[in-house]
Amino acid sequence: MKTIGLLGGMSWESSIQYERLINTEVRRRLGGVNSADLIIRSYNFAAIEQLQKADDWDTAAALLTADAARLESAGAEVVLLCTNTMHRVAPAIEAGLNVPFLHLADATARAVVDAGVANVALLGTRYTMEQAFYRDRLVAHGLDVLVPGPNDRTTVHNVIYDELVQGVVNPASKAAYLDVIERLVHAGAQGVIAGCTEIELLVAAEDVAIPYFPTTTLHAMAAVDFALGA
Ligand code: GLU
Repeated sequence: MKTIGLLGGMSWESSIQYERLINTEVRRRLGGVNSADLIIRSYNFAAIEQLQKADDWDTAAALLTADAARLESAGAEVVLLCTNTMHRVAPAIEAGLNVPFLHLADATARAVVDAGVANVALLGTRYTMEQAFYRDRLVAHGLDVLVPGPNDRTTVHNVIYDELVQGVVNPASKAAYLDVIERLVHAGAQGVIAGCTEIELLVAAEDVAIPYFPTTTLHAMAAVDFALGA
């Protein structure tokens, strides 16, 4: 079994889900007392959020690239970045590694394509929904990508930062998300990507009438496939 390096803490509410999902899947596949071989770097998210707000992606890239290399030096044989948003700096991280970097949008796009969905809605932070880095990666897999309108993007973004990363799961926010998804379905979405690693703490597949792609789960399963050579 290969050692998996995780860049986490963005937020820890979702990176503990990575740990849980990866370990649970390794136990399911190997049985007994088997668990994953993990090395985790977990940040103080306040420092990361400040860099996002300041639009200082270069400092963020330098920080994450250096720590990814440290994970490799410590024995990681593959590296995952446990946030969609910070994939804005994925090219720098990937360029600094000698081991594979499992890109979250690739793992997600493969699941969307495999499900036969061509037109997919993307929910996430404002950065993920509005900037090109994530959408373009999905488009490169042949997908058409729909994002919510401006007011809905504000709602989706604020629930992430004001609630989910702070451990607050609010039924009213879940209802608001489901309304947003309904509008996207009316606009032609055949599936929806939970493109922020905390969204699946709020909305589950059974809440949504169309195919739902939870990025934390999809990324964690891709890590297990890699680690076990599946
Ligand atoms: N975890 C979230 C994501 O997947 C948002 C927090 C962050 O900005 O990293 O985008």
